[in-house]
Amino acid sequence: MKFDLDAVLVEHGCAGSALATRILRALPRHVPVTHVADNETREATRPASGARDPFGAGKRRMVIARRKTPFLMPCHAGSSRFACCGYLVLTLASNCPMDCSYCFLQEYLADNPAFQVYANFTDSFDELDRLIDNARGRSFRVGTAELADSLAFDSITSISRDLIDFFASRENLTLELKTKTDEIENLLGRDPRGRVLVSWTLSPAAVYRSSEHLTASPTARIAAARAVLDAGYRVAFHLDPLIAYPGAERDYLLLIDELLDTIAPKQISFISMGGLRMTPRLRGAARSRFPGDPMLCGEDVLAADGRFRTFTPLRLNLYRTLADRFRKAGAEIPAYLCMEAASVHESVFGAAPSRPAIIGNRLARD
Ligand code: SF4
Repeated sequence: MKFDLDAVLVEHGCAGSALATRILRALPRHVPVTHVADNETREATRPASGARDPFGAGKRRMVIARRKTPFLMPCHAGSSRFACCGYLVLTLASNCPMDCSYCFLQEYLADNPAFQVYANFTDSFDELDRLIDNARGRSFRVGTAELADSLAFDSITSISRDLIDFFASRENLTLELKTKTDEIENLLGRDPRGRVLVSWTLSPAAVYRSSEHLTASPTARIAAARAVLDAGYRVAFHLDPLIAYPGAERDYLLLIDELLDTIAPKQISFISMGGLRMTPRLRGAARSRFPGDPMLCGEDVLAADGRFRTFTPLRLNLYRTLADRFRKAGAEIPAYLCMEAASVHESVFGAAPSRPAIIGNRLARD
């Protein structure tokens, strides 16, 4: 197990589940395991009273519970305001053992920060089957990284194996596993039949060192991408959040050089880019948890959507520099912007974005 846990709590009704059994078998002996009544689970996910950093403490407390609400939903970033990709999210876990200073979960999960995994996760496969039955002819890209990293803790949950086997048998679905880890052991040796894409968020070494605590290094992420590509998976990359610190342009170009030296452009399914964006509440929480992180203190302005965003000329300059670098790489890499207005997309790529359903369909099929 690559990440530390202080405790594991198992909801009574999940005690004999396959997931709980797997986790308890793989758990190091020193981690205490407690069983909680089903009606006490909610309380177990709350911030620990008296903890100096309740959110950070929640990340190290795993709760194995039954999910009572649907697993499948549209990506929360989707909105008529943005030029998005029509992504669907499958919530199989909540919170993350890594600790990026800019992570939106610090706000979103402030009231229930425990690391939850859902013992009934295979119910999500029924939801997906209903989705494709009701939308024949359409293709969907489905990701598991909305409220968690897709592969953190996969060494003890092995959920990726069930997911890969399910998606490999469904022609109209593409699974996207998105991660900042190099936890790929469960992927190697399985046959994804072209239906599974693994994506990595990439940042320059300066951002990794300053802001992406407990993640794999950028070099390790790129090496992991090469390994899963060789094992038959598709790969993609997210340059998100792009952070406009002094020297950023040079560092991002070096990062892209390292990426393209390892993986040929034609082997990359897509690149997404997005600027650093934080609601006022998130910015307050992030600066208070990581007061020494210079990446959180760049030049930003409060945008019309209520989020602080990197000053537009700085953000556009980074987008254009990187888009230009990808164009010059000699092969057309499909690229899109996450949570940006159509006008920004047009200014970077020289054309208006496609409608979300069209972008999503293309990404799911290519
Ligand atoms: S890896 Fe992703 S989910 Fe985990 S802390 Fe970082 S930004 Fe948040």
